[in-house]
Amino acid sequence: MTQTHSSALPPVARSIPLYCTNCESERFFKVIAHISNVAAKAKCEVCGRSKTVRSGEMEDSMSEAGADSKAKTKKPRNTDGLKAAAEKRKSQAAEKKAEVSAKKEAEQKAEYNKQYENLRGQIGTGKVQPYGMKNSFSVADAIQHPKYGLGFVTMATPDRIEVAFETGVLPLVHNRA
Ligand SMILES: [Zn+2]
Repeated sequence: MTQTHSSALPPVARSIPLYCTNCESERFFKVIAHISNVAAKAKCEVCGRSKTVRSGEMEDSMSEAGADSKAKTKKPRNTDGLKAAAEKRKSQAAEKKAEVSAKKEAEQKAEYNKQYENLRGQIGTGKVQPYGMKNSFSVADAIQHPKYGLGFVTMATPDRIEVAFETGVLPLVHNRA
């Protein structure tokens, strides 16, 4: 029977709940060494007091731990509810965020439209050049792009331009040999 009990010894370095006479309360004891097949030396993780625990003693606390974990298996139902509530809050927050960003997007779009109309008013459409990457453009040129339509150059470097189209500002190449 000692053979079967020996298997009940927890491995070294395993923490097990035991009563500590020094702390006068339930503590985790770390198994330091196996003294025999049925006994191990364990140390209170709080006060450091070591004690010899027999496999029977540990079986008790281990079965207690087992009962404890059985009790815990009931919990998930609770946490599922909490989780669901958290998920709901999260999705509501995400919806709100999407609403806010959609509103912001609409505002930005309206703001951009205003800028685009201003450019159209200032630059005009009297002289519109067709876009081509080999052509050369300068700031405030009006261009016609085959895909993006009427645009106005807002920025120009020797090889790049930025063009405000109705749909937004796009970087384009120019002066390409
Ligand atoms: Zn202790």
